[in-house]
Amino acid sequence: MNQDELKKLTISTASELLASKKLSSVELTQATLDVIEQQEPVINAFITVTKEIALARAKQVDELRAKNERLSILAGIPYSLKDVYNVKGVQTTGGAKILEGYISPYDATVEVLMKKSNAVLLGKTNCDSFGFGTTGEHSGFGPTKNPINIEYVPGGSSSGSGASLVYGGGVFSIGEDTGGSIRCPASFCGLAGLKTTYGRVSRYGAAPYASSYDTMGPMARNVKDVAIVLEHLAGQDARDATTGTAEVLPYSTLLDKSIKGMKIGMPKEYFGEGLDPEVRASMEHAADVFRSLGAEVIEISLPYTEYAVAAYYVIGTSETSSNLARLDGIRYGIEGEGDTWMQKIKDVRGKGFNDEAKRRIMVGTYALSAGYADQYYKKAQQVRQLLKKDFVRAFTEVDVIMTPTMPVLPPKIGENESDPLKLWLMDAFTVSVNPVGVPGLSVPTGFAKNGLPIGMQLIAPHFREDIILNVGYQFEQEVK
Ligand code: GLN
Repeated sequence: MNQDELKKLTISTASELLASKKLSSVELTQATLDVIEQQEPVINAFITVTKEIALARAKQVDELRAKNERLSILAGIPYSLKDVYNVKGVQTTGGAKILEGYISPYDATVEVLMKKSNAVLLGKTNCDSFGFGTTGEHSGFGPTKNPINIEYVPGGSSSGSGASLVYGGGVFSIGEDTGGSIRCPASFCGLAGLKTTYGRVSRYGAAPYASSYDTMGPMARNVKDVAIVLEHLAGQDARDATTGTAEVLPYSTLLDKSIKGMKIGMPKEYFGEGLDPEVRASMEHAADVFRSLGAEVIEISLPYTEYAVAAYYVIGTSETSSNLARLDGIRYGIEGEGDTWMQKIKDVRGKGFNDEAKRRIMVGTYALSAGYADQYYKKAQQVRQLLKKDFVRAFTEVDVIMTPTMPVLPPKIGENESDPLKLWLMDAFTVSVNPVGVPGLSVPTGFAKNGLPIGMQLIAPHFREDIILNVGYQFEQEVK
């Protein structure tokens, strides 16, 4: 299989080829590893390529298939994991220098499930360190480039997951989304990406950013593939007490339903000033497509939207300042120099964290500090409740909420270097979803004049991934 074929390969096609023995998993895996080797010097989508694991698993699947064993649809299919997931015996860095060389002693639940499905792990993908970023430029292992046009960012923080799928380095990838990190790179790379409901997929073994926001989910070339992977990831896990008991639906079999009569709400706050005109036009076109499919598209209001970025960052940085306290250079990753514990910890945190991580630790520590916690942290939690009310009310009026995924087109690499606040503001449409906990799916809607993709975000009530996957799929079928 050549790169052009790999770039388009979906789970359905790959699994048919494998099942009919027209292609072996070893052949598919080797072809993918070759493309990765050729592309990586420029794109930098992987931090670690697990070539030996990949080939060993592929061989094992081929042997099982030769014995006519009943196998999962994911069996033999190459995938990657964002480098926040622990994989036993493999380096896990979260994209941060401070964890360079840290070898995990156990598997994250996500990886346990993938292994059980006999999917083939290609490696761990690059990301903004600890998930702090919107562009993929803030990794301790160098920026990732967008293979569609290497002058542009692929989106972040699951940058390598997005970029590798664009160049054919795997059939799907599992990202992590705290405030848009799956949806943003999906949008900037022209992919489908699902932020799951908080509690739908186990967080066990995934390096934490903000524990009350973090969600795990698939990125793939189309909505159906996302649905298939979700079926394998979703469910309760005794190791993550926040996972929910809601039934895991056969998502990929529920995509064909007509969306006639469905109500889709476009929140007016997401279509105001600052929205790129090409993104706006693409959303209007998408709304027309929904109408042509028999859905009713109406304007709604989420009045607390303007406070979402502030509340998100106050709570997110607070939680992360606490989560990152464990990185003291003693238990994990690189070591600090010095004679005393204080000197060692200063050294390791000074050189191991990048500016963005330091900024967030400082903001979060400040927001939680005595005398300021009421003013910032508590206030932000109150806003969080108001954001939740906004969504609960909206879902009494409509079945699905539709917004642009990102307010702007992908920026050029380096474009926002001197303006961290601008980057935080780019998250305006994705960060409201995480404090509320509902699922959000990014689906490509078209391309801008410069050839870069645009994506829309579809949001449903808690544990109703089935609705947005259905709507996203129907849209995709109509425009393809
Ligand atoms: N861009 C957001 C942030 O920097 C989202 C990150 C994420 O989802 N991991 O916080």
